[in-house]
Amino acid sequence: MIKQILTYPNPILRKKSQDVINFDNELHTLLNNMNETMDYAGGVGLAAVQIGTLLNVLVINIPVENPDNSEEEIQLKENLIEAINPKITHKDGEIVFTEGCLSIPNIHEDVTRAMNITVEYYNRNGKLCTTEANEFLAVAWQHEMEHLSGHVFIDNLSFMKRKKFEKDWKKKLKESKRNRDL
Ligand SMILES: [Zn+2]
Repeated sequence: MIKQILTYPNPILRKKSQDVINFDNELHTLLNNMNETMDYAGGVGLAAVQIGTLLNVLVINIPVENPDNSEEEIQLKENLIEAINPKITHKDGEIVFTEGCLSIPNIHEDVTRAMNITVEYYNRNGKLCTTEANEFLAVAWQHEMEHLSGHVFIDNLSFMKRKKFEKDWKKKLKESKRNRDL
């Protein structure tokens, strides 16, 4: 089921998510809903909190070049990562990447994160997995895990950039409200 994605500054996005204890049907439904919602929204990743469920669950699917049309990117089922209770066990290096977020539509800002990470997580069946990620994939992991701790990517901006964002965002919200009223 496609769920509504909560947008900034919804206070739920500020809450800390809890570990999953039962790897049951309810978890599988949550994961299915997250995958459908991410697909529908055209996102690269989604954290459960973004659809209002405060559990340490995230999905990532990094797009790849369409072999039939090099100007297009597609997301393949086999590249889908479903991670439950993820923990970064190692990180090194630094990467600056221009990030966006489904909860803060149409805003893109540079964020500095670790270039290489190792993550431990459980899959949907409760199996412990370890994976290494770098560059864009490492950025996606760190972005989604930040959601689980109640943060959003603009929390990483400098004071001045953050101030500018808040001003622009307020204006945007006002405009969208006006549009809805017509
Ligand atoms: Zn996000």
